[in-house]
Amino acid sequence: MMEKSYLEQRKADIEYNLDVINEKIAESAIKSGRNPSEVQLMAVTKTVDPIFINYALDYGVKLIGENRVQEMLRKKPDLHLDGVQKHLIGHLQTNKAGQIVGEVDMIQSVDSLKIAKEIGKQSLKKGIITDVLLEINVGEEESKTGFSTSEFFENLYAISEIDSIRIKGLMTIPPICEENTILCKFFENIYNIYVDIKAKKIDNIDMSILSMGMSGDYEQAILNGSNLVRIGSSIFGLRIY
Ligand SMILES: *Cc1c(COP(=O)(O)O)cnc(C)c1O
Repeated sequence: MMEKSYLEQRKADIEYNLDVINEKIAESAIKSGRNPSEVQLMAVTKTVDPIFINYALDYGVKLIGENRVQEMLRKKPDLHLDGVQKHLIGHLQTNKAGQIVGEVDMIQSVDSLKIAKEIGKQSLKKGIITDVLLEINVGEEESKTGFSTSEFFENLYAISEIDSIRIKGLMTIPPICEENTILCKFFENIYNIYVDIKAKKIDNIDMSILSMGMSGDYEQAILNGSNLVRIGSSIFGLRIY
């Protein structure tokens, strides 16, 4: 039998990984009392070559996420993006906001009032409204960006008043936890904030997306209410920087 070429093998691996992940997402959604279609899968494509990203897109992935503005803009022309949504999920610097506004369907990583204002300003300039998620640093870790839970609410109200921005939900990256019960506490905290804001029915806030869960913890995240999981290495393999 002939040996499969490297590219064919990578394609088969990506397709197999997507099958496994979609099945696990469906199981977790059902366990949490929801329809599998209520949980979105995002393929996180940082460091991944467009050729491999296209294997995932051709296999049915409808949402991709990149961390860096430059990388997103560089790869975009090479991707099979028909009917595919693109989100920015990495920290955005104020001086790059003008380049990314209008180029993505959502910015998930709004982590300060300052960047929210800048996204608002750039959106206004382009005559568009930009959908955003607010990122919460649920573990209060120095190394991570995002609002602490204590400073979150005052910022939420301030950001909700910015024209040209629409708050669609929350995003979080919890600390790495050995203990499942501690991890679930983080997810639960965010879920409670999400439900709380939703109930308040604040103007200009449409709480419909709770983005949490990555390769190592997406099943727990879904069991705790996530409806968008961001998965990179479990689809494409370990990242080579
Ligand atoms: C890289 C990244 C992911 C995906 O991480 P994996 O562990 O490879 O699934 C998800 N979210 C954000 C914000 C990331 O930067």
